Amino acid sequence: MTGLDLLADRHRLLLVGGTWREADGDRRFDVLDPADGSVLTEVADGSVADAVEALDAAVAAQADWARTAPRERGEILRRAFDLLAARADDFAHLMSLEMGKTVAEAKGEVGYGNEFFRWFSEEAVRIHGRWMQAPAGGSRLLTVKKPVGPCLFITPWNFPLAMGTRKIGPAVAAGCTMVVKPAAQTPLTMLALAALLEEAGLPPGVLNVVPTTQAGAVSEALQADGRLRKVSFTGSTGVGKVLVRQSADRLQRMSMELGGNAPFLVFEDADLDAAVDGAMIAKMRNMGEACTAANRFLVHSSVAAEFAERLGARMGALTVGRGQDEGVDVGPLIDEKAVDSVDRLVSEAVRDGATVVTGGSAPEGPGYFYPPTVLLDVPEGAAITAEEIFGPVAPITTFETEEEAVAKANDTEYGLASYAYTRDLARTIRLAESLDFGMIGINSGLISNPAAPFGGVKASGFGREGGFEGIEEYLETTYVALPAG
Ligand code: NAP
Repeated sequence: MTGLDLLADRHRLLLVGGTWREADGDRRFDVLDPADGSVLTEVADGSVADAVEALDAAVAAQADWARTAPRERGEILRRAFDLLAARADDFAHLMSLEMGKTVAEAKGEVGYGNEFFRWFSEEAVRIHGRWMQAPAGGSRLLTVKKPVGPCLFITPWNFPLAMGTRKIGPAVAAGCTMVVKPAAQTPLTMLALAALLEEAGLPPGVLNVVPTTQAGAVSEALQADGRLRKVSFTGSTGVGKVLVRQSADRLQRMSMELGGNAPFLVFEDADLDAAVDGAMIAKMRNMGEACTAANRFLVHSSVAAEFAERLGARMGALTVGRGQDEGVDVGPLIDEKAVDSVDRLVSEAVRDGATVVTGGSAPEGPGYFYPPTVLLDVPEGAAITAEEIFGPVAPITTFETEEEAVAKANDTEYGLASYAYTRDLARTIRLAESLDFGMIGINSGLISNPAAPFGGVKASGFGREGGFEGIEEYLETTYVALPAG
């Protein structure tokens, strides 16, 4: 069994209150293969009324779910972890089909995403408040943790599984119910995941899934509803701002995992072999379509030419093609708009003086391919260093001093991931304290880890997913004042 076979026909529908059902008016929309633009399948297209019914189901299930034993919630997640691990190949194939990434890369995402189920299966039983004596003596202070209540999760197309499990895992562990709206371009993985969670024993109504082509109308209606208590969103900063504005009237709790513009610093004392290895991961993971993707390479002028040459050789040797084919390293981008956007950023940089080390222009279709590209001598202020590239392009600029490197790295509205290569411990400490980012990888091109708090600052959002912090996003604190007795 591979790919689409993972989905029975009913798993291409909406999941509302434990029932897989057609959308209002039996509407459907197509899911496309980004390797050639062909239709893979169609799924039910939820309306606003469908989404409100999904919220009704989440609200109806909330009280009983909150009362379940933490161990029971943890064991459901643990069963889901085991089931997903056993079906990793099929999930990887399905994800590769709808999103384009290679099957090997998709399998990596299944492994990473599944770890959120395991981590939060362990966290479910460690939710606790505190008991303390008031500083002045006399009274006792007790805190009680409670699930925040019904949640709305909106996820992007670039990591169709992991961006879901990072939210579903802690919400299940904390005792929250939820409505999930996956990206319209990649709803299949989430539908298959919902079927798997049902099989793992998640009660009806706890997880409801509504694929839709009306994301704006759905979020507006659900956020206007006072029963919805929390929104967790992963996606672009622009949409994140809309959702934060929509949360104002009901003062919903919000977690915002938004865009990034990660700097990748290479100092003159760096191990260049390690830096190139790290650059390949930080740049090429998910074809560069990652919020954590290295977006700007800031390299000390004394090693820039050598770094560019080595990185260019590695990037240029990658094979581009359909994600399901043997020997392919780099799949297609998600759609034509993505290719046009990458192409525009590269063309403008080259027009303004950048040198192409490798790659540099989009091939003819079909499919939405872009070759791994390295640009050297990228001019100061080029759009390619200010905007999220979201493609396999590494623009390189230089610096002379650590102070200049940090100033340039911080010169962005974003603050999600950053990377630095150096062998100097004192500098490492200075960087940890001066880089204005939620996450810093030192001599490492891969920072995502389910046991660590993932998240950003500034226009990259707020809230943390994973780590001990991850479950706090789904808990409220009630303080109880008690007499000394
Ligand atoms: P996007 O356009 O913001 O879409 C993300 C999700 O939001 C999709 O499900 C989309 O639905 C939905 N959406 C769009 N407009 C909406 C609205 N008005 N109300 C409610 N939902 C709405 O982002 P994307 O292009 O899919 O994803 C790429 C972005 O995500 C990048 O900026 C990337 O950096 C960011 N990202 C951040 C993280 C992180 O953890 N910080 C992780 C991964 C990605 P449709 O599919 O129907 O449009």
